[in-house]
Amino acid sequence: MVCKNCTRPFEGLYCYHCGQPATTRRITTREILTDILFSVVKVNRGFLFTARELSLRPGRAIRLYLAGQRVTYYAPHKYLFFIGAVTSFLTSRYHTFSGQYTSVNAYGGDAHSFFKAFFAYADAYATLINIVTIPVFALFSFLLFRRSGYNYAEHLVLNAYITSQQLLLFIGWLPLTRVAPLPAHWLLGLYVAVTLGYNLWVYVQFCGARTAASVLRAVGAMGLAYLGQLLLNLLFFRFGGVYL
Ligand SMILES: [Zn+2]
Repeated sequence: MVCKNCTRPFEGLYCYHCGQPATTRRITTREILTDILFSVVKVNRGFLFTARELSLRPGRAIRLYLAGQRVTYYAPHKYLFFIGAVTSFLTSRYHTFSGQYTSVNAYGGDAHSFFKAFFAYADAYATLINIVTIPVFALFSFLLFRRSGYNYAEHLVLNAYITSQQLLLFIGWLPLTRVAPLPAHWLLGLYVAVTLGYNLWVYVQFCGARTAASVLRAVGAMGLAYLGQLLLNLLFFRFGGVYL
């Protein structure tokens, strides 16, 4: 049989050079509709499975993805961009961070206007900054867990999944800020604590850390990365010309 796509000979249901199916029919409206339905359902199943695994046993799930289970799990870049898009939409709409700021209005003066502008900026760019600093997180986890044998790109995957999951948590946390009878800064603190705890948990599980020293190493990688993220944030804010 000759492949209709790459013209090389092959046997079986799919061409093993390019993946083209052996039989193709003329495209019909009915076929387009079933194709769309099938890909949406399949995408959702992969997405929900990945979201569940990253919530229940993230370290193990990411190791399996890296070891070769590329079909079962939603690819990290797609997962990240889908969740990132939803988060950007929500933060731009609901002004989460500048809304929080109204409860700490007491400072006044320059600091006041600085923080006011900074939180407005965080509203607009928080998701983007989170995504842009994934390479920084990957660098520190790569350097501090060199012995686990993963390369830098694999640490990019690890941290892309962590960031995605933190953004997903953020989406779940947003409605809480509307209904929970707690002060806004408590809720923000709770969110930060949960995301930091999640990050540490994934690092420890991913690297199979069993000793106090290796847990400390995970804390160190996180500390350096968050410091780097804060610095980048302030730099972008100060020199990026982003005054709103
Ligand atoms: Zn082919």
